[in-house]
Amino acid sequence: ATPMSVTVGVGRAAELGILIKDAEAMQQAAGIDTVVLDKTGTLTEGKPQVVDYKIYNTLTREQLVQLAASLEQSSEHPLANAIVQSAQQQQLDLYPHSDFMTYSGLGVSGTVDQQQLLLGNAKFMNQNNIKITHAETDFDFIANQGATPVYLAQNGLLAGIIGISDPLRKDSFSAVKRMQKMGLNVVMLTGDSIKTAQVIAAKLGITDVVADVLPDGKAAQITLLQQQGKRVAMVGDGINDAPALALAEVGIAMGSGTDVAIESAQFTLMRHSLHGVADALELSKATLRNIK
Ligand code: ADP
Ligand code: MG
Repeated sequence: ATPMSVTVGVGRAAELGILIKDAEAMQQAAGIDTVVLDKTGTLTEGKPQVVDYKIYNTLTREQLVQLAASLEQSSEHPLANAIVQSAQQQQLDLYPHSDFMTYSGLGVSGTVDQQQLLLGNAKFMNQNNIKITHAETDFDFIANQGATPVYLAQNGLLAGIIGISDPLRKDSFSAVKRMQKMGLNVVMLTGDSIKTAQVIAAKLGITDVVADVLPDGKAAQITLLQQQGKRVAMVGDGINDAPALALAEVGIAMGSGTDVAIESAQFTLMRHSLHGVADALELSKATLRNIK
């Protein structure tokens, strides 16, 4: 039978907007010493917007967005949504595309208006032998604002960079500070570039940053921490966070997240705030104290 105090704990958690799948999860949560936070959609709102453009050929800004958005129509990635939304706001017509391919953690490719397009990060450009060295200053300029630079290559040559920014949730800073005051190690884990990640981490007072992680690399990072003796809570929202959420001692999903993230986690935060993480861990500790 579930002890009375656990039932009370689960009820109290619900009042705080924290859904707990099983009472055992509270026991695990009481022993956590490390909190790993996904960046996009977890520390940030998950509503990225286009904020900057750089062009390296004869395209106009409108043409750059038009080509990129025509390709991204078929992608569900938050960055893709930002690009398509920007095209819509500028009332640009989109072309049909063919040969669409998506490369998880890298980008997308396809043919638009008889142009062979690649859209994604530096790793993706390097894999496809697209020269990007001449764009490094522009890349850094965008990344230094905490925005994500996305490269567009057209027929094997760099055509432009689109800078996309996702605002921090307004209480992420105070929630991180609260977790650190509780004595927890706070780590940021992201598929985004190290430059962008470090700018965001600095704003939040997070010094431990793991970036440029491919989707299957997130779970590997959890294993690495566990091998170092850490007891880990993973907090995330994306499909690519699901294996890490399942593997951690405690998985905590954002209520705004994907179904697969919520299914993989023991806790779900219905109030879109990372204070829910601190609340969940504090409450679990208090509940366990009442049993002993
Ligand atoms: P995360 O959700 O942790 O930021 P992802 O694994 O989803 O990481 O993506 C990592 C990186 O891959 C993105 O920051 C982006 O540079 C690139 N990428 C992935 N999908 C796309 C896409 N559809 N369009 C453009 N870039 C993409
Ligand atoms: Mg995410």
